[in-house]
Amino acid sequence: MPNIDESGLASHNFEKINTALVLFRQFSLKLASKKEMRLTLIHAGYLKLDGGAMFGIIPKRMWEKLNPPDDKNLCTWSMRCLLIETADRKILVDTGMGEKQDARFRAHFEPHGQLSIVESLAQHNIEAEDITDVFLTHLHFDHCGGAIRSTPSVASSPTLQPTFPNAKYWSNAQHWAWAMSPNPREQASFFKENFVPLQDWGLLHFINDGEELTAGVKVHMQYGHTEAMMALEIKAGDKTFFYCADTIPSAWHIHLPFVMAYDVRPLDTLKEKNAILERAVTEGWYLIFEHDPIVECARIKKTDTGRFVVDTTYELKNLS
Ligand SMILES: [Zn+2]
Repeated sequence: MPNIDESGLASHNFEKINTALVLFRQFSLKLASKKEMRLTLIHAGYLKLDGGAMFGIIPKRMWEKLNPPDDKNLCTWSMRCLLIETADRKILVDTGMGEKQDARFRAHFEPHGQLSIVESLAQHNIEAEDITDVFLTHLHFDHCGGAIRSTPSVASSPTLQPTFPNAKYWSNAQHWAWAMSPNPREQASFFKENFVPLQDWGLLHFINDGEELTAGVKVHMQYGHTEAMMALEIKAGDKTFFYCADTIPSAWHIHLPFVMAYDVRPLDTLKEKNAILERAVTEGWYLIFEHDPIVECARIKKTDTGRFVVDTTYELKNLS
C-alpha cells in the first residue's frame, strides 16, 4: 500500500479546487458577457386610432383589408413596450398609456387588454421597483402615460406618483421643450400630467442623439413623427434590433408611402424610414414594431423593383 501523506493530499486537493473555482468563475463571466443583454416585449394593451390618421394618404379601400376598422373607422393598435436587461440595469422602453385617464378619454381611444404595465412586468417576474431606467421614445400619451400613476387618495383628489420609483426617466432636451409648449396640431397628444411631475421629482434625465443608453443601445433621433423622437438600435448577442417607435409603427408602414397623418414632417419620415430600411436590409436588422396589432418583429428585404417588403416575421421571445 503506498504511503499517503494526508496533509499533502489535502493541500493538493485544495489547490485543485481553487484552480477549478477560478476557471469556473472565468467561464461564467465569459458566459455572462456573451449573453449580457436580454430583450423582452412588455405589453401595455391596445388602443383604437382612426384608420385614416394611421395610414395617411393610403386609400381606405387598401388599408381596410389590412387592419379592418370598426363602424367609427377606428382600428386596433398595440402598445408594445420593450424591456432591456443587462447585468446591472433593467431598462423599460416606453410605458403604454397607463390607467389614469378619465372616462371621456377612454371613450375616445377605447383602451383594452392588459393595460397595466406593472402587471405585464409581473408576468415576467419583474417588480416596478426593479426598473432602473425608463426610456421614453417621446411624450405622446400612448408612449409615456404609464410612467406616472395616480393613487386615489382622500376625497376625490388623486395623487400622482412615479410608477417606477427607483428609475431614472430618459427624454431629451429638444423633445422636452417641444412637448412643454406643444403646437395646436399635436397638443391633444401631450398631457402634462404624464411627464411634468418627473421633472418636479428630480427623476428626469436627458440624452443626446448617437449616445448609448447602455453599451450596445444607441439613440437615433427622428424628426418626422415629432420633434426629436428617439428610436433605438440595440446590439444583443450576434443580432441587431431596431425599436422603431412611431417612425415605422407597424409592419404595414414599411411601405414607404404609408406615413401617418399625425406626423409633423411627413417627408422627413419618408427619408428616415428609407434610411432605417436600407440598413435593415443590408445589415439584417430585426425591426420591432410598437403599434402593430399582430407582428412583433420582422426582417426586411428589397424586391427587384426596389420596394421594401417583410421577409420573415418573428416573436421576439424566439430570438433573444
Ligand atoms: Zn407618437
